[in-house]
Amino acid sequence: MRKKIVAGNWKMNNDLAQTETFLVDFKKQVFPEDVVVMIAPPFTNLSHAFTSMREHPVSIAAQNMHQNDEGAFTGEVSAKMLKSVGVNTVILGHSERRAYFNEDSQLLAEKVNTALKNELTIIFCIGEELEDRKSENHFNLIKTQLTEGLFHVSSEAWEHIIIAYEPVWAIGTGETASPEQAQEMHLFIRKTIEEKYSKAIADKVSILYGGSVKPNNAVEIFSQTDVDGGLIGGAALKVDSFMDIVNAFE
Ligand code: PGA
Repeated sequence: MRKKIVAGNWKMNNDLAQTETFLVDFKKQVFPEDVVVMIAPPFTNLSHAFTSMREHPVSIAAQNMHQNDEGAFTGEVSAKMLKSVGVNTVILGHSERRAYFNEDSQLLAEKVNTALKNELTIIFCIGEELEDRKSENHFNLIKTQLTEGLFHVSSEAWEHIIIAYEPVWAIGTGETASPEQAQEMHLFIRKTIEEKYSKAIADKVSILYGGSVKPNNAVEIFSQTDVDGGLIGGAALKVDSFMDIVNAFE
């Protein structure tokens, strides 16, 4: 059985007061026992979120980290710092990091190594642009992103890796991949992992879908055989809609 996971990626939203408002309500929720629930607030609110949710079955994730352990990197945050405030998971390779902060596969491979060395679980994001899909290059692109950013890790490391497939054209646009498109790509990702590693590893890795997941489409998307949950942006900012998605597994 693969882990079912729903992770909320807050992006650059929610200051401390807004975070507190969210958490006061979030703490009152009943979380399903068979779903791993995570939230990824901005760096400034990680410590507060961890302390606040300590007694609740919710993991606190970071949205990014630096590849070096420490040093003269003004404005950056290290894996060790994340660990020190209770973070156990980090999102790497989000398409916004790739597009706006020039994070390429080589850099991401370094970040992956640093995260693993520091015993952080990784949510590794991959996804194609609309042009890639139109030109039918999307499978190639996904394979390249996996190969260059992730396929250098050992078999053992896969215990700590979660994949998030997020087609760039579906992020924040209100447009989602159809459940069939999601299933097709998730299966392709699983097969690609199987070819490189093993069936046992491929069968075990959780592959999340991301890109305009909302309460009204989550049930259908999550019901696909190879979709093990979601990475949620906009709909993760409100407790009600996020909980509806957390509860969308049949
Ligand atoms: P969205 O974002 O749900 O707002 O489309 C998803 C993501 O970027 O992780």
